Amino acid sequence: MGRFEQRRIGNATLVALQDSWAPMQPGSFFGTVEAAAWEPYRDLLEDDGSFVLNIGAWLVRSEGQTILVDTGIGPRPVQMPLQEAPALPAVLEAAGVVAAEVDTVLLSHLHFDHTGWNTTAEADGPRPVFANARHLVQQAEWDHWTESDASKRAARFDDVLGPLEDAALLDLLDGEQPITSELVAIPTPGHTPGHMSFVLQSGGERAYLLGDAAHHPAQLSEPAWSPGADVDPVQSAETRAALFERIEREQALIASGHFPFPGLGRAVQDGARLRFDAIEASA
Ligand SMILES: [Zn+2]
Repeated sequence: MGRFEQRRIGNATLVALQDSWAPMQPGSFFGTVEAAAWEPYRDLLEDDGSFVLNIGAWLVRSEGQTILVDTGIGPRPVQMPLQEAPALPAVLEAAGVVAAEVDTVLLSHLHFDHTGWNTTAEADGPRPVFANARHLVQQAEWDHWTESDASKRAARFDDVLGPLEDAALLDLLDGEQPITSELVAIPTPGHTPGHMSFVLQSGGERAYLLGDAAHHPAQLSEPAWSPGADVDPVQSAETRAALFERIEREQALIASGHFPFPGLGRAVQDGARLRFDAIEASA
């Protein structure tokens, strides 16, 4: 089963939750990046040249609210070499939260590895897992994935999105939006049109929950590296560069669900480039 690690951000709590993880090949994941360009980042790859793609989600406790950010791969089969059976609800329970207690589910975007546990995969049909939670998605994201039958199929609409709509658990956001007075959703488009990240700020500390604005620590140094999954690779590169500059300037924490678990660290200036410095969760 996946792991969890907790960190305090001022008066709020941030918990890294691991649904699963998979080894990925940089050459196929970042299709446009030459193998030689990875040379300076060999220490961020495994001995066999692969890298670890964590499949993470976050729990935020803020002002009495229990907030889940993204819902992982979920219970349905996927074409990925997963190294753990996805078990986010059990990991959440190990962290002290049962699904019924979740007040809000924030979906950074609607790719399958962020929406999987929106619903169960039972024989009698999918049912919302977080049945007492409002599920928040950007309007632009919803529009993108519901504009045609093909896009709906790509987002597994009938399995993980339609049931939220049917149960009236869905709220659509338009741009920047406060969730609590400590947590704000900010648009970070490019990976997908309505992609959002989250800023958690409390007691003088600040953390940016990236969503899929980045997938690998090397992208701090190489923000122009856009993976094949980015819908608009030019926009995503601009968004990524601006976001990392902002994080470095503000000396904020990075919280990434796809960087190696727990995906926490800082953006450190290293010559003309930034570099990702991982930190331990417990503090
Ligand atoms: Zn993802």
